[in-house]
Formats: sequence, structure tokens, C-alpha cells
Amino acid sequence: MRQRPKLVLVGQFSALPWVFEAAERAGADLILVPRGDDDAERARKAAGVVELLPLDVDGDPDAALAALVERFGREPFDGIMAGNEKAVPFVARAARVLGLTGLTEEAADVVRDKRSMRRLLRAAGLAVPGFVAVGHPDDWADAAGLRFPVVVKPANGYSSLGVIRVDSAAELERAVRTTWALCHAHLGYDGGAADGEPADGWGVLVEEYLDGPEISAESLVHRGRVRVCAISYKGELSGPYFEETTLRAPAQLPADVLAAVEREVVGAHHAFGITEGTTHTELRLVSGTRPVLLEMGARIGGGGFMHHLVHVSSGIDLAAEAVRIHLGREPECWTREPVGTGHAAAYLVPVGGGGRIVRVHGLDEVREEPCVDHVAQTVGPGALLRPYPDWSGYPAIVLSQHASDAAAVEFRDHLSRTLRVEYEARS
Ligand code: ADP
Ligand code: CA
Ligand code: CA
Repeated sequence: MRQRPKLVLVGQFSALPWVFEAAERAGADLILVPRGDDDAERARKAAGVVELLPLDVDGDPDAALAALVERFGREPFDGIMAGNEKAVPFVARAARVLGLTGLTEEAADVVRDKRSMRRLLRAAGLAVPGFVAVGHPDDWADAAGLRFPVVVKPANGYSSLGVIRVDSAAELERAVRTTWALCHAHLGYDGGAADGEPADGWGVLVEEYLDGPEISAESLVHRGRVRVCAISYKGELSGPYFEETTLRAPAQLPADVLAAVEREVVGAHHAFGITEGTTHTELRLVSGTRPVLLEMGARIGGGGFMHHLVHVSSGIDLAAEAVRIHLGREPECWTREPVGTGHAAAYLVPVGGGGRIVRVHGLDEVREEPCVDHVAQTVGPGALLRPYPDWSGYPAIVLSQHASDAAAVEFRDHLSRTLRVEYEARS
């Protein structure tokens, strides 16, 4: 009897179930490389996991790769997939060394650096805002010639950490220094002392503000062919900080706008050289109609929860298809057309003022609502949640499904009225 295929899943957080459950649907066993901050007991028990393989992917990637090669030598596995943004370059490298399906290392590096994405989009003739890469906080004035408002952000950030809208040149220096300080605290940048060249990957990007609602596109890619599976609506986020709170799919947009989004997203995959796997692309619709890419991640968005929005709205089993692709197989939706079952929504409970979390009031009632599929809580009582423009986690995420977009909007309004985060009193 042929053994079940085995997939190495790198850094998928075990508090979030979607990718783990999808592996079972795809008939694959998982060798989980747990995230450094994951709970080992929970990781071991996650759906589909047959083996834990702790590796120091962030701290010592060479040793991690050597250990992975050694594990492959003892008993080969059939694929490897990234479970978070930071793991993408390591997984590309491991795939090349082991001869498994994956991205090229060049493409993996491109989607980890917002400056590279901007340059390649511009070279491909796709839409880009004016932008300037600032390599050192003292060089903030390099960006003063852009058309304001602008957005200042880390070149290699996540979750809108350190992303700040700036309305005039007079406020630019302060914002660049604030963003750099957050990169120093969380992304390992140096403190901005004026000596030496900045290390590879460090830097701040300043770009012109794109005015219009935000959307995201989830795609599958296999042998260079891209399928945009779902487009979600994130609404108006005007800053100065960009805390995401809601997504709904399918986005209620005219067919010509959806087609333009698809062209931009497919073009970006080609420009970046993304040929295998799954991607999460964020865009703004300038004036409500003209799509401009913000960034792309070569993984399932939201730690896996974007799977929910795709699965409900399009019927495509995004996470299971991703597992198949990384095992070198063709996605099933290439030959069989699934159908969506409704309107999906995600609500990210806002951090608000932040602090040490006691509990989220109202969640127990929300769990009982028939439209709610899942409530994810990745931080427990006592965890410190820092407010934007800093970031350290979401209090909770509620995933639901509805008969119409209007019903999804109504439920979001209900959640924003009823859920309340309680923090410890500051002493
Ligand atoms: P991150 O990797 O931190 O998510 P993004 O580039 O996606 O970085 O920026 C986070 C958010 O900031 C975006 O979702 C968007 O709301 C806002 N933002 C970033 N760049 C721009 C821009 N040029 N114009 C308007 N909003 C922007
Ligand atoms: Ca990102
Ligand atoms: Ca983003």
C-alpha cells in the first residue's frame, strides 16, 4: 500500500486550525516545524500532525536546513510549505536543495521586500504610487518631494506594524524616526546611528497615499498559471494607523472592476516570478475603481483564516489546494468547478488602547450564534497587546457566514457594538 504523502509545514501557528484540517482533507500527513512561540502540546495534537520537527529557522537557518536535509535522508517527505511570512525564503531554499515544489529563492526574496515589489511592478508597467526607499532615518528628506499625503512603512513589516500616514512634509521626519524605532524594537534594525551601511533587508519605504477602499485577492498558482479564487472587501481605512477590522467576500464590485483587479494580480505574479503555491495580495481601489497593488505575501493570508473567506465565497478549498500544490499535484479546481455557498466575513476585534488583556466580553455569546463558524483567540489572559502603530496581536477573530453581503455588514455592526476588550488597570 502506498504511504500517505507527507508535507513539512513550517511555522504554521497551531492555535489556528484551517491549514491543519485542510491537510487531512487533502489526504496528507504533516511534519510540523513549530513556530518558536507555539505551544508544543497543542502543536503535537493539531489535526494532521504526525511529527514535530523543531528547527531554529529564524535564528540559525543554515543549521535548520542541515537538520531538515538529515531528516529527509532518513525518510524522504513529499513537499514543504510556509505557514507564515518569515518562513517563505527558508522554505524556498529548502525546496531547491531537496528538489521539491516551491518558489525560486529570488521570488521568495521579492515578496519579502516591499521595495523590490514596487520596482518590479513599475518595470512591468503595472500600477504603482510614487515611492522612495529610505535606507537610514537621517535620510528621511529623500522622500520630501513625494506628493502628500504619504505612507511610511517598514520595507519588510507585517500587520501594519509601524505603518503611518503623513499629511505634510513637516511631519515626515518624525514618522520616519517612529517607524525606524519600531523596526529596531521588532525587526532587528539597528538604532539608526549614522555609521555603516544598513543591513540587507532593512529600510523604510515612503509612498504616496492611495485613496480608496481596500481589497484583498487570494490566489492559487501552479506551474505559473494563476487563478484568483476570491476577492474580499476590507473597506475604507484612512489612517493615520491601519488596523484591519473586517473583511467580506465576495466583494460587491462591478464586473469590470473585478476584471481589472484580476489583471493587476495576475500581472504581479508574473512580475515577481511567483509560480507555485498560494498568495495573499492586498490592493487599494483608487477612486473606487482603479486597482493598485499594496503588497503580496506568498502564503495563505491571516495565519490561514483567508481560507475561510475563499472556501465559503467560492467553494474552492484554498488550504487543501495549497497542500496539493506543495506536494507537486495539480489543484482540483483546475479541472472541477466548485460553487460558493454564501457570503463570508471576518471580524478582527480592535486592540483599542491596548494593555494586559483580561478578557474579551461578549465572545461566549458570539460563539453560540448560528452564523459563526469559528472564534480564534491567539493571545491568552495576561498577554500584553500594544496599540497601533505598534502591534503585538489581535484580541480575537470572528469568522462567520451569511446569506447576503447586507447580512454580513449587519453582523459586523452587531459585533462592533457588543464585543469589548477588558485590560488590566494600569498601576
Ligand atoms: P503590512 O505588511 O504591514 O501589512 P502594508 O503595505 O500592507 O504592510 O500596509 C499596511 C496597511 O497600510 C495597508 O493595508 C493599507 O491600509 C495601508 N497602506 C499601506 N500603504 C499604503 C498606501 N500607499 N496608500 C494607502 N494606504 C496604504
Ligand atoms: Ca504583509
Ligand atoms: Ca498588508
